[in-house]
Amino acid sequence: MLVEEKDALKVKLKEVFGYSQFRGNQETVIRNVLDRKNTFVIMPTGAGKSLCYQLPALMNEGLAIVISPLIALMKNQVDQLNAYGVNARFLNSTLSKGEITRLKKDCMNNIVKLLYVAPESMNKEENIEFLKKVNVSFVAIDEAHCISEWGHDFRPEYRRIKSIIQQFGNLPIVALTATATPKVQLDIQKNLQMEDADVFMSSFNRKNLYYEVRPKKETKKQLIHFVRHHKGKSGIVYCLSRKKVEEIAQLLQVNGFKAAPYHAGLDPEVRERNQDNFLNEEVDIIVATIAFGMGIDKPDVRFVVHYDVPKSLEGYYQETGRSGRDGLEGHCLMFYSHNDLNKLEKFNKDKSVQERENARILLQEMEFYAESPVCRRKQLLHYFGEEYKQDNCGMCDNCVHPRERFDGMEYAAMVLQAVKQTNERFGLGHLVHVLRGVEDEYVKSYGHFSLPIYGKGKEQDADFWKSIIRQTLIFQLLEKDIENIGVLKMTARGEAFLKKPHPLEMARDHDFTTDVENEEVSTERAPANTKAYDDKLFEMLKDLRKKVAKQKDLPPYVIFQDPSLEEMATTFPTTKEDLAQVNGVGMGKVNKFGKEFLELIKKYVDDNDIETASEIVVKTSVNKSKTKILIIQQIDKKIDLEEIAQTAGLTFNELLTEIENISYSGTKLNLTYYLDDILDKSKQDDIHDYFMNADTDSLEAALNDESLSDYSEEDIRLIRVQFMSEHAH
Ligand code: ADP
Ligand code: ZN
Repeated sequence: MLVEEKDALKVKLKEVFGYSQFRGNQETVIRNVLDRKNTFVIMPTGAGKSLCYQLPALMNEGLAIVISPLIALMKNQVDQLNAYGVNARFLNSTLSKGEITRLKKDCMNNIVKLLYVAPESMNKEENIEFLKKVNVSFVAIDEAHCISEWGHDFRPEYRRIKSIIQQFGNLPIVALTATATPKVQLDIQKNLQMEDADVFMSSFNRKNLYYEVRPKKETKKQLIHFVRHHKGKSGIVYCLSRKKVEEIAQLLQVNGFKAAPYHAGLDPEVRERNQDNFLNEEVDIIVATIAFGMGIDKPDVRFVVHYDVPKSLEGYYQETGRSGRDGLEGHCLMFYSHNDLNKLEKFNKDKSVQERENARILLQEMEFYAESPVCRRKQLLHYFGEEYKQDNCGMCDNCVHPRERFDGMEYAAMVLQAVKQTNERFGLGHLVHVLRGVEDEYVKSYGHFSLPIYGKGKEQDADFWKSIIRQTLIFQLLEKDIENIGVLKMTARGEAFLKKPHPLEMARDHDFTTDVENEEVSTERAPANTKAYDDKLFEMLKDLRKKVAKQKDLPPYVIFQDPSLEEMATTFPTTKEDLAQVNGVGMGKVNKFGKEFLELIKKYVDDNDIETASEIVVKTSVNKSKTKILIIQQIDKKIDLEEIAQTAGLTFNELLTEIENISYSGTKLNLTYYLDDILDKSKQDDIHDYFMNADTDSLEAALNDESLSDYSEEDIRLIRVQFMSEHAH
């Protein structure tokens, strides 16, 4: 290229856009486009893709067509270009007839330099006819990953683009995307018939972002703790549903944060206002569905939290990419649970078989990522086809808190043998079966039970082998076959390794299976997680409970129930207020029994250097539903329970359940007035005595106990509530 031309580019860059330097490989890309070659640009969000077609459009004769899937974004870009004094326009379904006529005239008169077109508008016959008559310089296809069914954002209209462009002549194509796995890249090039294209791939490594995955339990508390750490800084919290967005935004607000919701169900004005407030820093935290962030260019977002598991790693990478665009701190935290994956899978049930299968594969990658012990950065980059060579990035949870390592040499060798002996034609699931000697249909039909490697790995479970295979992939001893999804093949490195094995540092996956939180229930009952608590403290708390029970001559469960102790051994409450937050406790119990327990926990926390929940008091917005309040008020007024049920629109049984919930969460209910009406005092005493002496307050146990055989379930339940109110609260 001539010096003058080079200068001409820079001059234009300065003159129009006001920049004095190109960024990354922008200049090489732009030159390639100006040389009329097919060009494929893969650059992370924020790297400056737009300039790669905008500047050539200005340098060229004629008009450049830009295909872009999002109408809102299109308008935004056109507005920006117009502000630079560039004649850019858009063609989509929002235009009126008159506007279209004017637009066409201007295009024919050669005064428009860039025309943004929605893919569905490209498909319209009248538009094709018109564009045939215009002098088009080249076609840019933004968000090119939308072409591929294998990506996370497939748009069927995109697949027809090439056949339409062909009707305008033999035009160079510039395809651009910020997210493309190797498989998707290949798909894009094939579909656009540009296998010959020059590919410009920038590194996807965002050095300043810290990646972290945490189990999704006590999530609200963790979230509050986390944002408190980042108080006053900008952040985004992504949730999957609108309902969750509202709930979490409210949670943050009542806990004193400047937070606002953002989702497609809000009034456009409200949505826009919330977005503007976030940009103007009136609001620190935006709680949003993934609808938020497209085209948002706020440079100083300091954290991105995924409250729910995202649908794909592509999406995850894009969303986390919105933090730290200025190159400074960006903390990316994801809360992960298997349960979320199941929920996401259910959303897909109405899709076609193929779509469902694709979505499932994306979810599986998500699962692998979250559970893997391997550097997050290495995994993400590997996913996008880039190798991260460092062993420790120092900027992800797996590097900062590495899991215990072991030498995986032998295991990796076994995996590679399994791949080789099955002729590199199978995927993870089958390989695991071969290694573990599981004789299923496939193993039988391929006769794989006779392979030397068959069953050699039976000592280890399936999860172990899955993890080893995935780590072998990251070491690039194996690779995914791009043509056949799921199939794993040897690499040259793998072959070399088999000839001369060397030690490989591996680790076990994270175990998230015990960390399920059922959030719907958790405000009423103790969380369903069973083993996440501190065993030792739990045992100590139980001992103390026994002692206290003895002193007070009460059954232990009346003091605190097991789930409450588990929760204490999870959240380590050290103040009365914190203790009262524990499910099944309440202030009444705290005052009655709390002192010794708090002392024990405090001592334990000090002795073991545990970070406590003391500064995290999660205030919930009034979550006692109206019904509950009504019930409490009416019982206070000694109103007949049948009547309360009627007023509240509940069956008697439902009312009983509500009453139990109320009592369980620590509110005292005096039912004497009602019980005296329906049961003799002596009968009441029978049931009361039973509970006094039982080891558990289980209803089932009570129903099965002979001494209570004369009593109805209702009687027993009511007395149980009364009993707990008298002794436990
Ligand atoms: P992408 O489409 O890759 O996400 P954009 O094209 O929107 O990124 O560019 C991101 C930001 O970088 C924009 O604010 C843009 O103006 C800016 N930018 C692009 N190229 C340059 C450059 N050479 N010098 C300075 N800023 C640039
Ligand atoms: Zn790392």
